[in-house]
Amino acid sequence: LLQVRDLTKTFPVRSGGRTRQLRALGGISFDLRRGETLGLVGESGCGKSTLARTLLMLERPDSGTVRFDGVDPFTLRGARLLQWRRRVQMVFQDPFASLNARMTAGDIVSEPWRTHKDLFPSAKERGARVRELLGLVGLRAGDEHRYPQEFSGGQRQRIGIARALALDPDVIVCDEPVSALDLSVQAQVLNLLNDLQRQLGVSYVFISHDLSVVRHVADRVMVMYLGGIVEQGGTEAVFGRALHPYSAALMSAAP
Ligand code: ATP
Ligand code: MG
Repeated sequence: LLQVRDLTKTFPVRSGGRTRQLRALGGISFDLRRGETLGLVGESGCGKSTLARTLLMLERPDSGTVRFDGVDPFTLRGARLLQWRRRVQMVFQDPFASLNARMTAGDIVSEPWRTHKDLFPSAKERGARVRELLGLVGLRAGDEHRYPQEFSGGQRQRIGIARALALDPDVIVCDEPVSALDLSVQAQVLNLLNDLQRQLGVSYVFISHDLSVVRHVADRVMVMYLGGIVEQGGTEAVFGRALHPYSAALMSAAP
């Protein structure tokens, strides 16, 4: 489904009047198969979110390629590009900061259709689809008229997930999707993601610093360190062996 090869990305950073290049991604390669969950772990600043942003085409890599079903979306323009942008969506860490407090849940979920007007051209269709999406993530009829601050953290994250589903994507990049939630609510949201995967066949890139969460949800795991991948494989295999000194240290530090 998704093939990533030799991605590199550097950011210019200014310090003391000089500009140097900070290497955020140093040659990342991996595949994501349809319907699987790929866990991505690594310490703060190792490049996880930069990789996520590159997959969403919010960041252009310096070199390397991202291919979806063989097509490099960075080479597309106009309507074709818009078409491909639908395929990867994101769920963010903080459901309090990432939802616009001035918009109702219904407006939040339907917002992606503003740039993809062809999807649900009539207000009636949009309304019906919003209610369907909110139902899919376990919210109730009438919730589309409420504002984010009237929902609990877990419910807000459900709204964020419904929005990510609005364009019917193939891949959802979840950047620390449950880190801001209580433990019991974490489990509910993880179960929801799992159910959606079974129902819709969507694939996840699942970023988390919480190894027990990743172990629970991921089919395969990548360990990142200083912009590179130091370990990659089946979840149990990676947790069982952890050959690289960094991933070994990471695993042994886990509760
Ligand atoms: P965390 O776990 O804290 O979210 P991360 O693994 O997601 O960390 P990134 O946000 O990808 O890390 O950042 C990787 C490196 O790139 C960091 O050193 C960061 O300071 C740098 N960086 C990220 N975005 C930019 C930017 N827009 N401009 C300059 N430097 C950046
Ligand atoms: Mg990050």
